[in-house]
Amino acid sequence: MKIAMIGTGYVGLVTGACLAEIGHEVTCVDSIETKVAALRDGKIPIFESGLDEVVARNHADGNLHFTTDLDQAVADNDVVFLAVGTPQASDGRSDLTQIETATKQIAKAANSDKIVVVKSTVPVGTCRRVGRILSKHGHDHSFQVASNPEFLREGAAVKDFMAPDRIVIGSSDKATEGVMREIYVPFEKQNVPIVLTTLETSELIKYSANAFLATKVAFINEMANLCDATGGDVSALSRGIGLDNRIGQAFLKPGPGYGGSCFPKDTLALTILAQEADCPTRIVESVVDSNSFHIRRLGRRIAEFCADSWGEDSHVPLVGRRVAVLGLAFKANTDDIRQAASTVLVPLLIKNGAEVIGYDPEAADAAAEEITFLQTTTDMDEALKGAEAVLVLTEWADIAKIDWAEKKKLLAHPAVIDLRNLYDPEAMAGLGIDYMSLGRPTPH
Ligand code: NAD
Repeated sequence: MKIAMIGTGYVGLVTGACLAEIGHEVTCVDSIETKVAALRDGKIPIFESGLDEVVARNHADGNLHFTTDLDQAVADNDVVFLAVGTPQASDGRSDLTQIETATKQIAKAANSDKIVVVKSTVPVGTCRRVGRILSKHGHDHSFQVASNPEFLREGAAVKDFMAPDRIVIGSSDKATEGVMREIYVPFEKQNVPIVLTTLETSELIKYSANAFLATKVAFINEMANLCDATGGDVSALSRGIGLDNRIGQAFLKPGPGYGGSCFPKDTLALTILAQEADCPTRIVESVVDSNSFHIRRLGRRIAEFCADSWGEDSHVPLVGRRVAVLGLAFKANTDDIRQAASTVLVPLLIKNGAEVIGYDPEAADAAAEEITFLQTTTDMDEALKGAEAVLVLTEWADIAKIDWAEKKKLLAHPAVIDLRNLYDPEAMAGLGIDYMSLGRPTPH
């Protein structure tokens, strides 16, 4: 099938390339000329494992094209996916400007009947709104709208697309549903469950899935804090509850709170749309509060731990101290720093007077651009050299595998704050390193 993908970001590029991989001819459109030019030259603008090969293969085979010409792409394809951004607006709602603009462009460019598939994460009711905009601005043709939310995880996006747990399709007529099933027929043949539903339910499924996963993250972080306060061990607790099939082990690892481009904005947008529907989601509201409380509390705990380790009782212990931050991306295997813990905790350290140098193998440039006064490097040793405290924020494999007996020699003072629980507390104590992790007893 011939498909146009409007928006070639994390989702649009992965989806476009993978739809080409399963046999479709896809034209990826983006309004950023430099991005499109780079893609045509075989340069992938994001770090995503395996994506470069899929893009290169399908581009070379003539199944994947890149353009800034939305009008032509719409004219040439009967199915048009919308994968533009839906960032958080200043009032916490989902900002639908990109959706609205792109929809009007599609309507005006249409030269025949089209199916418009909303892949972006949108509040319930948006697909119907997209349908109304299409009818208003593209009156010579008929338009059908489908909802097809994306569940890929950055860092494992290609794998997630090619081996999905399920595919969700929302539509309001059988013909559109049929076209959508045809697009995904290779997955249906592999017995991937296809959830066929209405537009509204499909939109809600995406928000509910993110809210549920965010709930697990916030929950285990609260349990980790409780372990700290009572002498428990969250690793055993997590295993003890996660082995119950009804609960499951995924998303039960404590950390610096959920971040990234989806959970924070989607949980907040869900609470607002629920309030507006006069049906508040109290649990999700608590999750949003819990997550922001957790990270602010961590900011205080880091300062206290450092003061303790440095033997200071000053209330401004960080002034002039060199702190190395290991990992700036919101999670491992991505260069995405949107709403990463680094974007909250690093400015806090800097505000409190610390000199911060951040290491990340892929996100160093993006973080340096985003966080004022942060120095960054892609050389871990450069970050560790002379550090008086090390803050571990991202679980990159090279960070998880650090040989602390070696790296300790680079430090001016051996204090490690590990917000991903990557290291063994006993081993760290054995090396004479002051060590803080989450919810695990620390031997002295
Ligand atoms: P992104 O910001 O990385 O990409 C959006 C792209 O759309 C940008 O490159 C932008 O230039 C382009 N664009 C915007 N308006 C355009 C227009 N009129 N014409 C052509 N191009 C246009 O966003 P993303 O992370 O890919 O997210 C896209 C959507 O998918 C969002 O709704 C997001 O919530 C959802 N989503 C994201 C993820 C994720 O992990 N990033 C996962 C699932 C769902």
